[in-house]
Amino acid sequence: MPTVKYQRGDTVMGRWPGSNLYYEVKVQRFDSKSQLYTVIYKDGTELELKEQDIMNALSFQSRLRSRSRSRSPGRRRSRSRSPGRSTRRSSSRTSAVTTESAPTARKELKIKDVVEVRLTPLVRQIRAYFWLLFLPAWVFFLLLQVNQDDPSLMNFPPPLPPLESFWDVQAFGIIVLWVLFQGLLYVLPIGKLSEGMPLRSGERLKYRTNGFFAITVSTIAVGAAVYQGVDLTYIHSHFLQLALAALLISFLLSVYLYARSRSAPTDQLALGGNSGNVLYDFFKGRELNPRIKNFDLKFFCEMRPGLIGWCVINLGMALAEMKEQGLETPSPAMILVNVFQLLYVVDGLWNEEAILTTMDLMHDGFGFMLAFGDLVWVPFTYTLQAYYLVSHPNPLSHLTLALIVTIKLVGFYIFRKSNSEKNAFRRNPADPRLSHLKSIPTATGKSLLVSGWWGVVRHPNYLGDLIMALAWSLPCGFTHLLPWYYMIYFIILLVHRDSRDMSECRRKYGLAWDQYCRTVPYRIIPRIY
Ligand code: NDP
Repeated sequence: MPTVKYQRGDTVMGRWPGSNLYYEVKVQRFDSKSQLYTVIYKDGTELELKEQDIMNALSFQSRLRSRSRSRSPGRRRSRSRSPGRSTRRSSSRTSAVTTESAPTARKELKIKDVVEVRLTPLVRQIRAYFWLLFLPAWVFFLLLQVNQDDPSLMNFPPPLPPLESFWDVQAFGIIVLWVLFQGLLYVLPIGKLSEGMPLRSGERLKYRTNGFFAITVSTIAVGAAVYQGVDLTYIHSHFLQLALAALLISFLLSVYLYARSRSAPTDQLALGGNSGNVLYDFFKGRELNPRIKNFDLKFFCEMRPGLIGWCVINLGMALAEMKEQGLETPSPAMILVNVFQLLYVVDGLWNEEAILTTMDLMHDGFGFMLAFGDLVWVPFTYTLQAYYLVSHPNPLSHLTLALIVTIKLVGFYIFRKSNSEKNAFRRNPADPRLSHLKSIPTATGKSLLVSGWWGVVRHPNYLGDLIMALAWSLPCGFTHLLPWYYMIYFIILLVHRDSRDMSECRRKYGLAWDQYCRTVPYRIIPRIY
């Protein structure tokens, strides 16, 4: 590479895409056509970077020094006055930024020490504002719309109840108690301790994967409460208030998460949530695995209060349907929705370990996006079919019932088999049970499956999930669009998630990923997409 700035083998500082974080990387090659450098990070991640996203170590250090010199005098004074701050400390901070491999020095590094090379684009901020306002509003719109006698979208907008009626102390207390109860079950020393995937520091966190135990105890507790006369139809009659309480809790949790991330070491920050823009980072989440001692907040919220709460809400809706329609048992449509979604949640909790290899756990920071998703979006919008059926009955023939059950089982089979296959392969590529599968090596040391489920399409697990989503909406019939909301939303979510994952994998695995894509040309649906 005679005319290019950085040569093969050079050790330089490379900006992680979408963030202001710089890491030590080695230049692998330069592509004169795309004008991109392929660099490799210390954890084996290979990415393509533009020249402006690379700095040599010397100019990086001098930039750091000049930045700290140019800080406001007041701030400098207060630093030098503090007896705890010695010059050694400040130099260790510098080396922490430049030498990503020094763990003790890295602990000293705070986000304010990260070099901001480029101003965060305004568009990011606007996007974060939009989602922060839109997502909660959308949840309440859905709930109000479905609750109408005629939930047709032609009846837009739904009447808005007085705002004060959204707040209910008892509903708030119930949500708090529910989260605490789930928290208690999570910390009990019962069940397996599973290891997460290696972090950038090389460390592997341990997780108490006792989700199945949690849902079993929760079922017994809810059953006992109903037996004692607790009226679960309260969930239906106070759905808006419960949703607002959950929203408030997710917001408070996100504020706490953002505040604590300000003092988190950089190697514990997610690479995508460190733009330097407060609102955007609050939304995306900064800290990758925020923990209070061994209590992993992200893992807990992803798997427990919302997921198990989803099943309890569905049960409450089934009881409300019986009450409202004078039935002795829930309708077949309601039973299908309840059983299908319960199966989905129980399966997720039974295979809880599998979540440790998913994008949410491995790459995304924990902020409003996930907290809201886990505590509000999942329990209050995924229950929309059951909520709809309470006052909009849909009788089903035996044939239709059998067809829907078959669709569900097919979807579940594809979903479970493909997820388990990838999970087993990632945990132990040499697993003898996987010896019949073909894989291709990548420069990072990890391999990619090119046969079995992952040889059919690039996201067979999404295909299974989508087929199941179809089976969840079918019991509600075709009279209204809203019970199909989950299906429509899920297609958009998974198509977007798939393309996000594709570009991430393209960056990670480079040519090996291209080879995989050539071998397995379809993304989610064989021969179609
Ligand atoms: P995946 O579990 O599909 O994980 C994608 C990762 O798998 C890639 O980044 C890559 O990571 C690895 N991978 C990709 N291709 C291969 C291959 N050929 N061989 C080996 N490893 C490969 O993604 P998600 O986390 O999005 O989904 C997990 C499950 O959760 C899915 O079943 C999905 O349907 C479901 N889901 C459900 C949602 C809901 O709301 N109901 C929302 C989102 C997801 P690496 O190489 O780094 O290991």
